This record gives sequence, structure tokens and C-alpha cells, in this order.
Amino acid sequence: MLRSINVKINAAIAIALVIVLGLSAYFTLSTQNVQAEENTQSKARLLTQSVTNIIKMDMVGQYEKDLTKIILTLGQFKEIETLRIFSPDGLILHSAIPQEVGANIDELVMNVFLSGDMNKPFRSGAEEHRSMCRVEVMYNAPECHRCHGSDTEIIGVLEVCLSMAATDEQIERNARFMVISTVLTILMIVIVISLLTTLIVKRPISSLMSTIEKRRRGEVDARVRLYSNDELGKLGQSFNDMLSRLDEANRQMQRLHAEQMSRAERLASIGEMAASVAHEIKNPLAGLSGATQVLSSSFPEGDPRSEVVKEMLKLTVRLDKTINDLLSFAKVATPTFEQVNPNDIIEDALFFAIGETSDKDVKTVRRLDQMMPEIPLDSHQMQQVFLNLFINARHASKPGQALTIISRITPEGPLPDGIPVNDYVEIAVVDEGDGIPPDRLKEIFKPFFTTKVQGTGLGLPISRNIVEAHGGIMGVESTVGEGATFYVWLKKRQDTAS
Ligand code: ADP
Repeated sequence: MLRSINVKINAAIAIALVIVLGLSAYFTLSTQNVQAEENTQSKARLLTQSVTNIIKMDMVGQYEKDLTKIILTLGQFKEIETLRIFSPDGLILHSAIPQEVGANIDELVMNVFLSGDMNKPFRSGAEEHRSMCRVEVMYNAPECHRCHGSDTEIIGVLEVCLSMAATDEQIERNARFMVISTVLTILMIVIVISLLTTLIVKRPISSLMSTIEKRRRGEVDARVRLYSNDELGKLGQSFNDMLSRLDEANRQMQRLHAEQMSRAERLASIGEMAASVAHEIKNPLAGLSGATQVLSSSFPEGDPRSEVVKEMLKLTVRLDKTINDLLSFAKVATPTFEQVNPNDIIEDALFFAIGETSDKDVKTVRRLDQMMPEIPLDSHQMQQVFLNLFINARHASKPGQALTIISRITPEGPLPDGIPVNDYVEIAVVDEGDGIPPDRLKEIFKPFFTTKVQGTGLGLPISRNIVEAHGGIMGVESTVGEGATFYVWLKKRQDTAS
């Protein structure tokens, strides 16, 4: 993968360079070519005009053999490929190559002459290399009449062809040089970038990846090797910091887990002991309660001792409740599921709660969703949960305040730990009491935590045990002075129960 990053970067750069350098080489060579052609053209023009003038000057008062000599002499210049004078009907009269005198000029030159467009240079197609040609018409001027008479308008046509072989060779050399230098430049840049990406990118990323791999294999000491202080270096540093924090969190979690385990074990054995002690107390207590009842009925009306016995009876009832709570907390609640509508259980629990706390004038408001479906519940256990919550709420309320019970098919807010809301129904028990201070919120689900003189501190822990045995969740939120809301979220289906 890293190699492919390298390859991708280099391929992209190489393509960009080929396009940019290739285009610039192409345009440079084209410009050189055009310039070379233009140079040769102006040379051809200059030469034809000079030769025409020389011939004219020489012809006036000279002999024809001097013209041949001039042409032969000029024709010796290496660059001059063709230098000839031909008659208007195409017969070669004078030439730097004496053998072709008397022959006809080729069709191309004749056509240029006949077209009349003689100022325009043209290319001869005859040779392997390019050559630039030009024709210049020599008109029969009055000073020529002495030898040529006055009948003809044109006395001859001068044709000059300049070879572009040397220029072409130079252009070819330039092109070769450009191709080689372009290829070398691209190679150099690609090599340098490849080296840089290896040093700056590949090395730190490899180190990061190998550290991740080592950690995966369980090497807890593995850390990223830092090569630089740039972004990747900082990434490595942050990764190392994160690993250290993770290790520390892990150590803390292990310590906490060990502590909790030993605490749980301790609690479990205390719980077992408490349960067996409670069992032992339960039977004698039943006997004691029965005996006290018999005793109370044996006193005559108005006897002051009957008040004492009544108080004794109350205390045995409270003792019995405490023992029952302790036993149901110690017992692992395994619910027996049946399809029940939670609204029905709420109604039953409310009936008992109002009975238990009838001394208080608390309004009960029901906002129960009439579309609430039947869900798998243990009615008896869930009745105990709601009863606990309603009694607590009524205990916390002052006369005239309201206790609102809400049931919703889908929870209103998000559930803890991102649990999907659609799998649960929600029951909220809202009171307008004094509320619970934040530091106490953490304590209220702990066994035996109570702020009530006659409380056991087992109501909420028992309720939470039952709800969790149903695969449900319990939650609480409270604002001091405004009241508390206890939530019970229950699963709509038990097949997904954990
Ligand atoms: P108990 O009712 O026997 O005290 P619980 O476990 O039911 O035991 O409750 C523990 C404590 O939580 C209570 O003593 C009380 O301080 C607090 N608590 C419970 N429900 C409420 C409520 N609705 N408003 C304020 N405090 C509450």
C-alpha cells in the first residue's frame, strides 16, 4: 500500500512533467524551425536580388562568358544548391552545374514562374533534405536592348535554391538534446521525490503501522519511532501519548475491576449470611407476632398495657418487612415471563401504593399510552418495582403536589450507552418533591442506603435487580427543589435479551 502511494505520487508527477516539458520542448523546436525557415528565406531573397544586380551591372558593356563565370563562382558556395538562369519557356541558359545548360527546368519551378507569385519562396522537393528556393524575373530594361533587342519583355529568370541541410542537422541535434535532457530531468525529479516520500512519508507511516501490529500482538511497550517534528512526527507523538493514556486507563480499569470483584465476593458472602440469618429470624418472628396478637386481645378495654402491645405488634410488622426485603434482595430474581400490558401492572401497583401512603394528599396523574403493547414481563416482580417507585415518590412529595406516571411506546430521549430506543418501552415516574442532590444520586441504588428513619435502603437496589433480570434498564434524573424522575426501560421482546 505504501509502495503504491509512492508509485502514485511519482506517476502523477512524471505525467505532469512529461506534459509540461514535452509541450515546452515541442514549442521551442517549432519556433526554431520557423525561425530557420525564415532566415533561409531572407537569405534566398537577398541572394537572388544581389545576383540579379551583379548580373545587370556586369551585363551592361560586358560579355556573356562573364555571366557564366559569375554563376560558376557563386555556385561554389556550399549553401547554394541551385543557381541557374532559364528562358521564359523553361530552357536552362546558364547554371552553376554546366552539364544542365540546354536542358529544361523541372515542372515545380516552371509552375512557380508561371503562377507569377515569384516573391514567395518555395521548397524544392528534389533533395533528401529541405531547400528553400526563389525565382527572380529579369525584365528587358532599356539598357539591355543593345544585346537583347526590344522585342522580348523577359530576358531570363534567375532561380536560386539554398540548402537547409546544415540548419536541419542543427534542428535535429537540438531536438535530440531536448529529448535527452527532458527524460533526464523527469528521471531526476522522480528519483528525488521518491527519496523524499520514502524519508518523509513512508518511514514514519511504516513505523506507525508496525507499532499498531506489535500492539495487536500484545507488545505493550511498543511505541512509534519519531523521525521528525513535522505533521507526521506530531501524529506519531500523539499516537504514543494516546497509547500511554490507554495503558494508564487500562491499568486503572484492571485495578478497579479487581477491587470490585473482591467487594462483590465480600458482599455475596455477607448477602448469603444475611439471607440465612433472615431465614432463621423469620419463623420465630412469626411466632412472636402471633403471640403478641393473642396477648393484645386478652387485655380488657382501656388497659394501658394494650398500647404497649400494639407498639410491639407494629415493630414486628416492620421487622418482618425488613427481613422480606433482605430476602428478596439476596435471592437472584429469575423472572417468569408472560405477555402483559405494563399499563395494567402500573394500575395494580398504584392501588397498593395509594393504600400504603393514604395519609398524604398527593394527586396522581396518569399519562399512559393507550397503544402500549403487551410485552414479556413477570407481573409480580414488576409490580414490586413500580410499587417501590410510587411509594418513594409519594414519600418525597408534599400535600398538593402531583405524582405523574407516564408510559411511552418509544423512549423520549436517548438511552444510556447508545442502546437503540426502538427496542424498549419507557415508564417514567415523576414527582415534584425536593429532588435528589447530585452526590446522592450515585448512592441511592446501593444496598442499605436510606435517608428515611424507617427505611431499609433496599427498595431501589431490589427494583434495579428485577429490571435488569428483565433485560431492562433503570435510570434517574433530578433537579433539587423540582423533583425527581425515575425511568424504567423494558424490552419489547425477550428473544434479544442478553
Ligand atoms: P428506602 O425507601 O427504604 O429508603 P430506597 O432504596 O427505596 O430505600 O431509596 C433509597 C433512598 O433514595 C431513599 O432513602 C431516598 O433518600 C432516595 N429516594 C428514592 N426515591 C426518591 C424520590 N422520589 N425523591 C427523593 N429521594 C428519593
